[in-house]
Amino acid sequence: MKSLKPKYTLPFLRNISPDYIVDSVQDIYIAELPQRSEAIAFDADSTLVEHGESITSDSVLNFLKNLPLPVHIATNRIEQKATELASYLRADSVTFATSQYRKPQKAYFDKLASNAGRKPSELVMVGDRIFTDVYGANKAGLTTIYVKALGRDPWFIRYTGIRYIENALVALVSK
Ligand SMILES: [Mg+2]
Repeated sequence: MKSLKPKYTLPFLRNISPDYIVDSVQDIYIAELPQRSEAIAFDADSTLVEHGESITSDSVLNFLKNLPLPVHIATNRIEQKATELASYLRADSVTFATSQYRKPQKAYFDKLASNAGRKPSELVMVGDRIFTDVYGANKAGLTTIYVKALGRDPWFIRYTGIRYIENALVALVSK
């Protein structure tokens, strides 16, 4: 787990900089997280499951099961798909997108904190997207872990080239 020291004062660069970078969720070490961390929230698509999938590897399932912190799902999936996945993953809570809020909006992360019964500063957000997971969670005051995407990107990510931009930003801020 690579820890990035905060080095930017410009709000945009500060907010796109994750606190930690890992190759996969199994590389997360809870002991290295800030002492205040009381719960951990995971993005779903391309973080715990391949995009749009409803099952994942035994390795990810075992990792989640053995975590010493409560596990929450923080996804932009709609309610039904989010709830089914969270139940399969045995998560303590699930926060999905609604017409009122979605990642990266602050209202979404406020809802996540309320669902988890924690202050934003006590939560760790893990996700594969800089502009939604990392940027939104940083702005809302969570600890952030950027994880390399699991599996193949969906068409809208490939088509827009957004992943290339995010990868370039990660390379910039992790230098
Ligand atoms: Mg994702």
